[in-house]
Amino acid sequence: MTMEQKASNKKKVKVIKIDLDKCNGCRACEVICSAFHANPKYSSNNPARSRIRVYFDPLKNKYVPVYAGEYTPAECMGRDKYIINGKEYDECGFCRASCPSRDLFKEPDSGLPLKCDMCEDDPPQEEPLCVKWCLVDALTYEEREEEGEEEVKPEDVEIGLNALVDKYGLDKVVDTVARMTQKD
Ligand code: SF4
Ligand code: SF4
Repeated sequence: MTMEQKASNKKKVKVIKIDLDKCNGCRACEVICSAFHANPKYSSNNPARSRIRVYFDPLKNKYVPVYAGEYTPAECMGRDKYIINGKEYDECGFCRASCPSRDLFKEPDSGLPLKCDMCEDDPPQEEPLCVKWCLVDALTYEEREEEGEEEVKPEDVEIGLNALVDKYGLDKVVDTVARMTQKD
């Protein structure tokens, strides 16, 4: 087997669309996200543990939901600024990264980075819970397939396996891999 494997040439892309005109700042999305990811599930809710955070712009009276993205161990060397309708927005304001510059998207007790996982579950959820709980449809969910070969690198496999072990336990993962590799 080569070090790099080719996966299916169709990949499923999951998209949550955010309509700022509809968001009323109720923060139900923060509540359900933190409750779903509590351990045990639904045992508590704390927006600081949510993988979606809702900002308020008092000048425009707008709420802006932002999803937690990738973890980065380094601060940006350069920064972006957004100007929307003449107002300049904080350079980190809409950034999705969990990074050393700020406390956002970090688990409050451990400091571990938080990332939206689209509510991965077993069995899978019909749609992400923040979408389900957004009663005004400011968040909507779409799945689509995109062409293109996806390369699975060894380090990605390792990170994926670690995540599976965390979630399901070593015994279950080893058992599943053994069954998958069993010859008839
Ligand atoms: S649940 Fe919907 S309306 Fe409420 S804050 Fe989140 S995105 Fe906005
Ligand atoms: S999709 Fe799930 S994990 Fe991601 S922000 Fe929404 S509730 Fe949280």
